[in-house]
Amino acid sequence: MSERVIPLIDQRLRSLTARVPAQAIPATGLLGDTLGRPLRDLRISVTDRCNFRCSYCMPKEIFDKDYAYLPHSALLSFEEITRVARVFVAHGVQKIRLTGGEPLLRKNIEILIEQLAALRTTEGRPLDITLTTNGSLLERKAASLKAAGLQRVTVSLDGLDDAIFRAMNDVDFPVADVLRGIDAAQAAGLGPIKVNMVVKRGTNDQQILPMARHFKGSGIVLRFIEYMDVGATNGWRMDDVLPSAEVVQRIHAELPLVQLDPSAPGETAERWGYADGSGEIGVISSVTQAFCGDCNRARLSTEGQLYLCLFATHGHDLRHLIRGTETDEELGSAIGAIWQGRDDRYSQLRASLPPDQTTGGRRVEMSYIGG
Ligand code: SAM
Repeated sequence: MSERVIPLIDQRLRSLTARVPAQAIPATGLLGDTLGRPLRDLRISVTDRCNFRCSYCMPKEIFDKDYAYLPHSALLSFEEITRVARVFVAHGVQKIRLTGGEPLLRKNIEILIEQLAALRTTEGRPLDITLTTNGSLLERKAASLKAAGLQRVTVSLDGLDDAIFRAMNDVDFPVADVLRGIDAAQAAGLGPIKVNMVVKRGTNDQQILPMARHFKGSGIVLRFIEYMDVGATNGWRMDDVLPSAEVVQRIHAELPLVQLDPSAPGETAERWGYADGSGEIGVISSVTQAFCGDCNRARLSTEGQLYLCLFATHGHDLRHLIRGTETDEELGSAIGAIWQGRDDRYSQLRASLPPDQTTGGRRVEMSYIGG
């Protein structure tokens, strides 16, 4: 019998100290990295805690009652998050996604949303503000999130079969409660709603068609995500990945699809529409079809570390600048210098990397920097 080896790692183990460069980098909204990629999308993790224990993300064996989550004093406050978000926006960010952990576990998240909703892009437009959630608290919170200024939500849901879903979230959480959360989000006007399903071959791939049938015609965009080799604790194997091309084939065989144009540059999902005009699905092929070429996303961890790639092995510590005496301009120059030095494109390089660098190593956990 082969044993699964789960490395004991501390995801916060490596960080670089962000520094204010000697030469100021003004916020022109036109920042580019070494590959010419702009900075447009900021994902902010507001907590490293989650009430689910999905084995592909926060396996129980590691994230148990003894796991050392970040202390409250380490978390950026809402004011600190808003300040750093404002600096990112001046550099060209147009979209902010709140994530985690489970973002709805962060107390009074509505207050943060209100503060972020008051920011304006360099062209003077409101930001696109969204949030990714497991849906468990959505029924209770949808109306207050909308009132605070949240525009839309993405809900993670890995199947409709209750037994499969309860096993995947590993806390016995029922599907029906997530579906009620999605209904509440729709009723509150938090749309267009996206539902993300991580597909793991042999675990929930039989749920692809039931999910497609369920959401077809609902106005909700269902997106299938390839199971990724993020972090170092999920025991990822290529054999568990069901390529998106196969997802499309399986759906197309019963519900004909036509390919659609991308709706925005840097979009992670390839879009497919139902041929009968009853909506669309998306596939996110981060393993089989890398989309690093136009990746315009930065990620800010709960404690103020900036990550330039989902597969990064280290972050850049901004918190000491945020809590120091640096001005917004200095903080902006430090962020600008980090982005200008960015050359990350892990998914494109994956196939050519030696195995010890692709199978986990010291990569940051998804629950720490968010999806
Ligand atoms: N708790 C929130 C949620 O459930 O959506 C936000 C955080 S969660 C880390 C964000 C997304 O990452 C979820 O859709 C989750 O399914 C996805 N995810 C986590 N680990 C993954 C992996 N190894 N491969 C693909 N997607 C993953």
